[in-house]
Amino acid sequence: MFDNTFDKEHLWHPYTSTINPLPTYKVSSAKGVKITLEDGTELIDGMSSWWAVVHGYNNPVLNNAAKEQIDKMSHVMFGGFTHEPAIELGKLLLSILPDNMNNIFYADSGSVAVEVAMKMAMQASISKHHNTKKTNFVTIKSGYHGDTWNAMSVCDPVTGMHSMFGPTLNIRYFAPSPSCKFSDTWDDTCTQELEQIIETHHDEIAGFILEPIVQGAGGMRFYHPNYLIKARELCDKYDIYLIFDEIATGFGRTGKLFAWEHANVKPDIMCIGKALTGGYLTMSAVITTKYVADTISSGEAGVLMHGPTFMGNPLACAIAQASVKLLLKSNWQAKVKHIESVMNEMMLQARSFNNVADVRILGAIGVIEMKSPVNLATFQAECVKEGIWVRPFGKLVYIMPPFIINDEDLRTLISKLLKIIKPRV
Ligand SMILES: *Cc1c(COP(=O)(O)O)cnc(C)c1O
Repeated sequence: MFDNTFDKEHLWHPYTSTINPLPTYKVSSAKGVKITLEDGTELIDGMSSWWAVVHGYNNPVLNNAAKEQIDKMSHVMFGGFTHEPAIELGKLLLSILPDNMNNIFYADSGSVAVEVAMKMAMQASISKHHNTKKTNFVTIKSGYHGDTWNAMSVCDPVTGMHSMFGPTLNIRYFAPSPSCKFSDTWDDTCTQELEQIIETHHDEIAGFILEPIVQGAGGMRFYHPNYLIKARELCDKYDIYLIFDEIATGFGRTGKLFAWEHANVKPDIMCIGKALTGGYLTMSAVITTKYVADTISSGEAGVLMHGPTFMGNPLACAIAQASVKLLLKSNWQAKVKHIESVMNEMMLQARSFNNVADVRILGAIGVIEMKSPVNLATFQAECVKEGIWVRPFGKLVYIMPPFIINDEDLRTLISKLLKIIKPRV
């Protein structure tokens, strides 16, 4: 294989041991849906590099946007300066987000966006209620919101990192993961425990943070839109800010441009990231209502207490703007629908495999839940041998290919994947 000695001895990868690191594959280039390894092996990408690369790699439109902006400036501080890329991206985002959204905070990554969203809710709550007790959060189990401290605190307490950092993490209120699946008939009991928690503890709760419709890395679960309607009602009744983490679900992945549209429920605060720049640069944004923004600003602090060095990075803003425009004129709905229908046609048969617990599909997301955790090293070696790229997490084997994948590559991706997971007995 490759000489990855330096990598193995010195470079940390996500969630990796330095003593016994998982194998890594050296990529030399990527174009469209194909990732090329150093030895020339071509892999069909099933991951969009973790939800981000919706237009495929090395996209000429995004490359051009990057080049044009680089020749003007890559970066300039956002403290005291503003610029065209930030303004134009802002206009574009407000035109596609819920119509109550008004104020945008550009941040550097999804986790930071979640931190900022939680700070917004907390500052707004303190400002409004003059009460430092109404500052905690409620969330739902099986969630994933990132790896920084407060983001971790609202991740699933079991699959998240709570046991490791337990005593030092803030203690949040956890409602059960919604039991009512996306396509089930709605059942009111689905929100019973949530309602109880909020009724009992609302005077301590500033915000309710959740991933609308699709819970991503915390469980890959799809739940009923009515859950969001109930969440909105409870938040209104008890003066709690509703925060939608659309970092994974945003930009078409679930079949709607944003997942809130499945229920037509508008949040008070919203986080976006991942596909925002089409996977070119790290960037996220937190968007909120004028009411929340002004409530924060009329509080004791008088300002929102956040401001990262690379806030509003012009290069990232220019690429994000190009990526969102490209998406909007790309007929993405038809592409996502096609991916969904091919997944439905080909993947559901895995339900009959005796090592598979469940198969679920929504938009351009296909999930095969195994009965036991997958051995990542052997699984990925088989994927590379078959010419596909899929990275399971625990029992979850899932694909979310770039929207531009063609029918042939999509069918190859799925059939190779099924070949790998099919029990050989
Ligand atoms: C990936 C993700 C995050 C964290 O984003 P990073 O850019 O990895 O910090 C937060 N929330 C959700 C829903 C995500 O999928």
